[in-house]
Amino acid sequence: MATKENASEKLVFQAEVKQLLHLMIHSLYSNKEIVIRELISNASDAADKLRFEALKDASLYEKDSELKIRLSFDKKARTLTISDNGIGMNRDEVINNIGTIARSGTKEFLNNLTGDEAKDANLIGQFGVGFYSSFIIADLITVITRRAGSKEAIQWESKGEGEYTISAVKKDTRGTDIILHLKKDEDEFLSDWTLKSIIKKYSDHITLPIVMKKSEWQDGEEVPTDEDETVNAASALWARNKNDIKEEEYQEFYKNLSYDHEPPLTYSHNRIEGKQEYISLLYIPTKAPFDLFDRERHHGVKLYVKRIFIMEASEKLMPNYLRFIKGVIDSADLPLNVSREILQDSKEVEAIRAGSTKKVLDLLEDMSEKKPDDYKNFWKEFGVVMKEGHSEDFANREKIAKLFRFNSTHEETDAQVVSLKDYVSRMKDGQEAIYFITADSYEAAKHSPHLEIFKKKGIEVLLLSDRVDEWLLSTFNEFESKKLQSIAKGDLDLGKLEDEKEKEEKKKIEKDAKSLIEKIQKALGEKVKEVKVTHRLTDSPACLVAGEHDLSGNLERLLKAAGQKTPDTKPILEINPSHKLIQKLENTTDSRRFNDFAEVIFDQALISEGGQLKDPVAFVKKINQFLVE
Ligand code: ADP
Ligand code: MG
Repeated sequence: MATKENASEKLVFQAEVKQLLHLMIHSLYSNKEIVIRELISNASDAADKLRFEALKDASLYEKDSELKIRLSFDKKARTLTISDNGIGMNRDEVINNIGTIARSGTKEFLNNLTGDEAKDANLIGQFGVGFYSSFIIADLITVITRRAGSKEAIQWESKGEGEYTISAVKKDTRGTDIILHLKKDEDEFLSDWTLKSIIKKYSDHITLPIVMKKSEWQDGEEVPTDEDETVNAASALWARNKNDIKEEEYQEFYKNLSYDHEPPLTYSHNRIEGKQEYISLLYIPTKAPFDLFDRERHHGVKLYVKRIFIMEASEKLMPNYLRFIKGVIDSADLPLNVSREILQDSKEVEAIRAGSTKKVLDLLEDMSEKKPDDYKNFWKEFGVVMKEGHSEDFANREKIAKLFRFNSTHEETDAQVVSLKDYVSRMKDGQEAIYFITADSYEAAKHSPHLEIFKKKGIEVLLLSDRVDEWLLSTFNEFESKKLQSIAKGDLDLGKLEDEKEKEEKKKIEKDAKSLIEKIQKALGEKVKEVKVTHRLTDSPACLVAGEHDLSGNLERLLKAAGQKTPDTKPILEINPSHKLIQKLENTTDSRRFNDFAEVIFDQALISEGGQLKDPVAFVKKINQFLVE
């Protein structure tokens, strides 16, 4: 501790410092805890500086090389003290560092002031204005500091009202004590429990031990003991060298970070250097959280600046579709005071986000190649949100499409294991498009009559039944310059997959069915847009298809279920003239019976497609009538 040696000297702050203090106190008042964070950060910087200087001159350690930070408080005197045995400051340094605005950050801040208090308050987040934040909770601050290697100690004292005093004092220990004389209502900082929880929250990963006296509860009161206790974990796992970290440590850290009781599926740990400097440690969970589909809920990626916790900022650090990622991003460039608003427009954050997104996508690609079983598990849990990525993340579209897995007619089960690359590698000679069908269940897709011709010709079709597939396919039109083509929309053009003979046959069938088609069209009237001869069916009598540019039947139902208006489109009925039922229809001469028959065929096609009948009772009546006759 220090004793006064000679009379003190009064000095004035530069005018702007006063202005700065005023602004700071007003704009950061609701977030008082950060005072502790800032002071601990300064103490930690002071330790780093000492270590650096001691590389050249080990005597600076003065036989005390165990660097640490101590927090203590005195309830009677109502003071809170943050002490370190770091580099300390000499007289000039005290004046330069905390008595003037010579430091570039503060100066730049002041140059940017507009005079509009709200705007200026916002600016605070962009600059490191740490030490002065202490005036939020203190009305008098005493700094007692002795620089490493120097005999003289300095005391600086200020009420934050425009002037400060400076005097020479005695201090045995090297480093700095910052003594905050707390304001009237700030007693909460005189609690062991409060201080410890603030340290845990913001400074757990500071690599220096932060010690406090252990306290005991006696008669409902905290009573300090003489025993020291290290409050923080004092180790930032992510800042350590990859090779020195054991697998169990990564797993343990994940548990603490995520509260997930299952181990993570995989993780990626990177130190990025260059224009942006940051460390990222990103985990992919094994199981999806219950609120995966709540797009408003973001948590999981924590932002640190030089080991100090700043905030949960997943929504700024990760795109929405990767909202399941957990981890830490530790920037070396952002200021400690950075606010959410500033993160929003920050170029640094944008670069961090792009870099981290790429890391996650690379990690997934790697997993899909080297650990297909793990990837299968991943896709089962998170595939649906990955599909959102295709429209959200334009820059990574192709990378994302490669990660997709679907069901297809090539597989027996609905395990979703077919990649587009697999599909393309199995495409037939002359096949130009990637064919798919959407339906509201895997079974409905798998048994859809639209597949008949494809089965006959042995052409693979993707079977899509996730709700998001319809949305995905509305923007996803091409993969590796192959068109994605719905088999339930527009005219079926198999292109080179059909030979001349087949094309000739088609024309003949169409010609022969012309009058039947007209009759059915008349019978169904407004129900259909058009009636056509099908080239998709081999075993079924009829099916419905959507026009090339219309919504598919499935999408129309999804939209309606979501309470959205849909354009009033009618389906196209395709009939199979070689089917016995259609031949029977053709031979029906009674016109009332013909009409009923045509309607039954239309309704059947609608049901097979997963649609709902407007009047099921009428349908049943008609069927029964045919059964009886
Ligand atoms: P910043 O940490 O961004 O530089 P601060 O306002 O937090 O801004 O601190 C101002 C300066 O005061 C620091 O750069 C440092 O030179 C000096 N300083 C503050 N606290 C200490 C300390 N505990 N030990 C040594 N120097 C300190
Ligand atoms: Mg600081």
